[in-house]
Amino acid sequence: MDKDQAKKQLEELREKLEKYGYYYYVLDNPIVPDQEYDTLLQELLTIEEQFPDLVTEDSPSVRIGGAPLPYFTKVSHNVPMMSLGNAFNEQDLRDFDRRVRQFAGEEDVAYICELKIDGLAVSLTYESGKLVRGATRGDGTTGEDITSNLKTVSAIPLRIKSDVNLEVRGEAYMPKASFEALNEAKKEADEEPFANPRNAAAGSLRQLDPKIAAKRNLSMFVYSIGELEGKEIHSHYEGLTFLKDAGFKVNPETTKCETIEDVIAYTEKWVEKRHDLSYEIDGIVIKVDSLALQKEMGFTAKSPRWATAYKFPAEEVVTKLLDIELTV
Ligand code: NAD
Repeated sequence: MDKDQAKKQLEELREKLEKYGYYYYVLDNPIVPDQEYDTLLQELLTIEEQFPDLVTEDSPSVRIGGAPLPYFTKVSHNVPMMSLGNAFNEQDLRDFDRRVRQFAGEEDVAYICELKIDGLAVSLTYESGKLVRGATRGDGTTGEDITSNLKTVSAIPLRIKSDVNLEVRGEAYMPKASFEALNEAKKEADEEPFANPRNAAAGSLRQLDPKIAAKRNLSMFVYSIGELEGKEIHSHYEGLTFLKDAGFKVNPETTKCETIEDVIAYTEKWVEKRHDLSYEIDGIVIKVDSLALQKEMGFTAKSPRWATAYKFPAEEVVTKLLDIELTV
């Protein structure tokens, strides 16, 4: 491919990705399956890697999420809420491990494996232990103030068991059972059902009337600390333990792995068992445990170098041919 062809192809890909991203992130109403979006994004990344001078500032490869909706008060995130790099197979996980170990040198490496909950990223701010603000990720630097909606979620403590100043991140989600009941009710009322629990959760929390969110049976797992004053933490795992003790819901399947073999075994286990859970997951997030090593590794324009998201392989769509008796 020559440069002119690359330029043309990039323009086409960006236009599509922008459009799909807008429907997904801003309107909570995707018009293509995630795999299709991911394939187009990979194509874009491959061409941009070949022609780095064609990377634009607003390319979907460097942009995070979507713009905040205008009718919410905007909230700026002191620490940006980033996206995650992706791993699609065992080789990608081994490459990630190699990069981490290059940074670590002689140091021991441990990973924390977490389920990648399919909901929406939310930031909660506590002052002296009291919830003062809840916001969406938005475009990573500016989100939407959805405090009154988040206060209706019973898994979110309004006051925590610690007097710290804290900004904590996690995934707000709709359990599968609540999603099914909601869509059933929508169908009965002749309303358009939600495409999936992620969109239902995002749509419920981005409503102006908190009574709607209150009826939707949402929940939330927290998975990282943005800012913390009044306590020192040295590892991601220690942070999660602190959050759990403070009264937050931390996912019980979170596991510490000492080797990449253990990480791979964890991903394989959840490829099999993902449907046993009462909520949807779309992958596994693998994070370096040591905060010192995380700091050393830093970030790319879009995501931390010390974490990766393993995406589950697309599931085969089994079309079952039913025996239909034809009545003539
Ligand atoms: P991402 O989904 O690759 O990963 C980052 C997000 O993971 C975080 O913001 C957080 O919300 C979430 N997460 C869940 N559990 C987590 C945990 N334990 N630790 C850390 N983060 C956790 O990034 P993204 O930028 O939000 O979006 C990309 C995804 O959105 C892709 O899966 C893509 O297919 C989908 N997408 C789909 C469309 C579409 O049209 N279908 C459009 C745009 C994006």
